[in-house]
Amino acid sequence: MSTAAGFSNLSIKNILSDEQTMLAQARIRLLYYGLGLVFVAVFAVFLSVLFIDQTPLIVIAGGVLVLIAGLFKYLTWKADWKTVSHALLAVGTIINLADAFVIFQKVDILSIQLVLLFIIFGFYMLGQNWGLFYSLVNLLPIVLLMIYSYSNLYIIGIRPEKLDQSTLIISVLTNFIMMVYIHNHFYNAFLKNIVQLKKTGEEQSRLNINLEQAIDKAEKSSHAKSEFLSTMSHEIRTPLNAVIGMSNLLMMGNPRPDQQENLEILKFSANNLLAIVNDVLDFNKIESGKVVFENIRFNLAELMHNICGGQIIKANEKGLIFKLKIDDVFRNKTVIGDPTRITQIIFNLVSNAIKFTRQGYVEVKVNCIEDRHNQVVVRFSVKDSGIGIEGDNLTAIFEPFTQESVTTTRQYGGTGLGLAIVKRLLELKGVQMEVKSKPGQGSEFLFSLELPVATDKPEEHADKPRIAPQHDSELSNLHILVAEDNVVNTMLMKKFFSKWQVQSSFAENGERAVEMMQYGNFDIVLMDLQMPVMNGFEAATEIRKLPDGVKSSVPIIALTASALTDIREKVFSAGMNDYVSKPFKPDELKEKIVTLVKRKASVTSATFNQPAL
Ligand code: ADP
Repeated sequence: MSTAAGFSNLSIKNILSDEQTMLAQARIRLLYYGLGLVFVAVFAVFLSVLFIDQTPLIVIAGGVLVLIAGLFKYLTWKADWKTVSHALLAVGTIINLADAFVIFQKVDILSIQLVLLFIIFGFYMLGQNWGLFYSLVNLLPIVLLMIYSYSNLYIIGIRPEKLDQSTLIISVLTNFIMMVYIHNHFYNAFLKNIVQLKKTGEEQSRLNINLEQAIDKAEKSSHAKSEFLSTMSHEIRTPLNAVIGMSNLLMMGNPRPDQQENLEILKFSANNLLAIVNDVLDFNKIESGKVVFENIRFNLAELMHNICGGQIIKANEKGLIFKLKIDDVFRNKTVIGDPTRITQIIFNLVSNAIKFTRQGYVEVKVNCIEDRHNQVVVRFSVKDSGIGIEGDNLTAIFEPFTQESVTTTRQYGGTGLGLAIVKRLLELKGVQMEVKSKPGQGSEFLFSLELPVATDKPEEHADKPRIAPQHDSELSNLHILVAEDNVVNTMLMKKFFSKWQVQSSFAENGERAVEMMQYGNFDIVLMDLQMPVMNGFEAATEIRKLPDGVKSSVPIIALTASALTDIREKVFSAGMNDYVSKPFKPDELKEKIVTLVKRKASVTSATFNQPAL
């Protein structure tokens, strides 16, 4: 304890502070007032022994008076209650033992009182160990002396014979008062402590309630944000669907070269906008912990070729050399993982590499760094000879909406979300992304993934190569039912279908689609998911329940404007066979229609809960 106060200041306020515990404060108060009380009592004893002229007692009482005054001063100067307590107990013990063994040479009521007093004082002031120590040091000699007196047939005197009545009364009374005072004082401190605890408890529960309310509010607002984004995604993606679809249609109608160029710009911008909307949505989804990784069989080499296929063209257009190096081990291996997310990660890294490289190369490497029977560790690397990144910015570029500099935004565009998404996706898999980069020389992004290897015979759907785009004639005899409430989308589809020479019927909601299925004959159903009256999921479930086996097993492709991957599971569990994300790519839709219709034709009793891809 070292709360220093001015030397001449004797006020207790200077030695109490809020930093001290309740117990420390109680101990300081006890010493402060206790020393005052003892001083008065010893002074009375001093006067009394002075009166009866007992020299040794006068000396002792005088000495004790000086000691108490000194300790009081020391306490009010330094607040060092431990030292003061030790000093009091040590001197008290000496006096007690000297009293019993030297001065009066027997145990009397004062000795017993003093022992009791020191026991209480020792425990309260200095805790268990010192309390025990001072108790034993005082108690043992006194008890031994009592036993000795008893065995020598002396009567244990309860009154010190050499003290006069008044001194004895003062001493006994003071000791009793001290015992009562110490107990009373500590009982009060104990009560205060309980009240304080109760207050703290109440305060804590109030804080907890506030905290819960704040968490609730935050959760609600985060939920509202997600809802808002999901609605916006649908609202933005639906007209985008029309823009992209119309530009596709116009491009198919042999436009003049200048028109072709304008249409390409239109399509490019719409696709760009779509990518941004998807990124924002995806980031939101990752942040709100809604990402679920799929475990699908796929061939990594094939997947890498698919991802890089389009990118090679882009790189070549910029005059860059594109190298794709895949370890041979992956050629005949089927691994299990989430190809959509791997595609997203690699696609982002490769797009950046091409975007930020003016000349030289972009190199994608997939190495097997550990090959166990049922697991491989794959090291992915995307390297370029581009503009590079300053060392100070290597962490910041992974923050959402952060680009290396304003110049980057001006020159290359982008939202700064790509790497944030990549980093978070990898982190969800417990993987850290590494970056090596030198400004002006290029960058390399590296990460490793552990992928289980499918050891049994691969299922057909997972790594089956996609069939090449079909000729329109393959669709010409089909009758398609389209459930779609959006008029623009309906118009768009009609145009595609007439180009593909497909016969089509349209239902404006899910309920109508189920009705039409009951009375008409359709080869395939395209089902929008968000529709009034009955949504696509419910309608698909109803169709699967139809009594006519042929109708209930009709292939159903979901059309979804809500981006992203968790829709896949919902679509399949509602009994649909596949899905196409809006704005749909005409070739992809056509290919899926052909695949499903062919499969239906070749299977007598089809199982429709299996994913088609
Ligand atoms: P965006 O590409 O939309 O700007 P990203 O999150 O993908 O957003 O990238 C963030 C920033 O990191 C980029 O703006 C760029 O400054 C820097 N960066 C990313 N990849 C590369 C690269 N291969 N070479 C140089 N800089 C890069």
